[in-house]
Amino acid sequence: MQRSGRISRGAVTPAGLRREAVRIAALYALLGGAWIIYSDRILASLVVDPLLLIRLQTAKGWLYVGVTALLLAWLINRNLLAAARPAAELEDRVAERTAQLEGLNRALRASEDRFRALYEEIPAMYFTVDSSGTVISANLFGAEQLGYSVQELTGRPVLNVFHEEDRQAVQEQFDACLRAPAGEAVSWEFRKRRKDGSILWVREFARATEDAAGNKVVLIVCLDITDGKLADEEIVRLNAELRRHGAELEEANRKLTELDRLKSMFIASTSHELRTPLNSIIGFSSILLDEWIGPLTDEQKENLATVLRAGKHLLALINDIIDISKVEAGQIDRQISEFDLGELLEEAGRECADEAATRGIELRIEPVRLFMHTERRRLYQCVLNLVSNGVKYTERGSVVVTAQPSGAGRVTIAVTDTGIGIREEDRPRLFEPFSRLDSPLKSRVPGTGLGLYLTRKLAREVLGGEVALASRPGEGSSFFLTIPVRSEEGGIASGGTP
Ligand code: ADP
Repeated sequence: MQRSGRISRGAVTPAGLRREAVRIAALYALLGGAWIIYSDRILASLVVDPLLLIRLQTAKGWLYVGVTALLLAWLINRNLLAAARPAAELEDRVAERTAQLEGLNRALRASEDRFRALYEEIPAMYFTVDSSGTVISANLFGAEQLGYSVQELTGRPVLNVFHEEDRQAVQEQFDACLRAPAGEAVSWEFRKRRKDGSILWVREFARATEDAAGNKVVLIVCLDITDGKLADEEIVRLNAELRRHGAELEEANRKLTELDRLKSMFIASTSHELRTPLNSIIGFSSILLDEWIGPLTDEQKENLATVLRAGKHLLALINDIIDISKVEAGQIDRQISEFDLGELLEEAGRECADEAATRGIELRIEPVRLFMHTERRRLYQCVLNLVSNGVKYTERGSVVVTAQPSGAGRVTIAVTDTGIGIREEDRPRLFEPFSRLDSPLKSRVPGTGLGLYLTRKLAREVLGGEVALASRPGEGSSFFLTIPVRSEEGGIASGGTP
């Protein structure tokens, strides 16, 4: 500002120059006239010799010319050159400004190039549409995504690229965008149709603004969301399928439950039917074997003993099956009573004492006095199974039964034998129904493969406890039955766990 002010003060206008020239001319005329008049008079009064006077007048004339020439040169230098200086300064300033402008222009061009590259190549579609819905411009990426060239889109109604079914809704959104307050963006999701007819799901953000000429235009940024939409549709489809499968599964489950109930009913009723004749077979073969009816030959005795063994085996099997089906059907009669655990263990020991004695095995029940409040009959069944297994699968040594409180109102009954033991890899099969492990004793000792399965079922579902095992092949096994000392009346779940 300051610089330009100085330039304007020193600037010489043509009128100023003219005034300066008149001033110099007037001054020149004044001085010249005064010089001519007074120098001649003075010279004539001083010099008498006419020849000398002429010479002096000539010299005076030259002096006049020299002085005025010098004066003129001084005046020109002072006024005209000084007047020309601001013009030169102005020229310098103009050149400087021009250079600055060129630099700015170059920066602007570079910035525009960058913007254009961004506009064309960024993976988003840009459209500018006028208020009638005609495409004014589209970026290359946008056009390519739709399978068109930029020229093919420009000047055409933007609705043309939308799916026919969505056009009405697009028009409404577009109108809403035009009506929206300045600067407010409107967004929507619709289907577009590519040139080849395929569908493209897009999310668009639109904002109305004005172009350089003041016309209303809508700027649209458009993103491809086809993958996400397809994934959503797939999720919806999978969900529907899942629901259908769930319903099928529920139906299958209902049928299975019904079948299971029928199976249990069938087993329970047929087993009862089997138990009656079996009891007769066992009873009468015992009577015959004891020779109450009359003496028997050795061969008859041997045959009858086989009948008795087979009958007992079958009865044990049927009893186990009945119990299992009862637990599975949730039909176990729960008779909670107060009893001494020590007595229960002694009773189980007595039951297995003969078998242990026959095999030459020591069976020891460690004394314990602990009053329990639970299902005595089912606990006795579990303990008897474990003790009888201990005796069955021990060839020499001992079977020891102990009971100890194990915290949280529980007691652990341990049956430890010095028998054949159980291999690590056999453990998963141990508690499965009808599963008997391979061992040299398998063919010699009677068994159904249901004892441990039933024991664990009763322990879990009737007594509310668990069965655990520790064993070393060839050294022996320990089975641990841990159950609550006091069972909550009717509070233990039944059925369901295999
Ligand atoms: P089983 O009627 O055959 O005795 P269980 O269900 O009681 O059926 O036992 C399943 C299998 O587990 C048995 O056949 C036996 O192979 C093995 N087993 C059970 N208890 C013992 C034990 N104390 N020592 C070694 N093996 C055992």
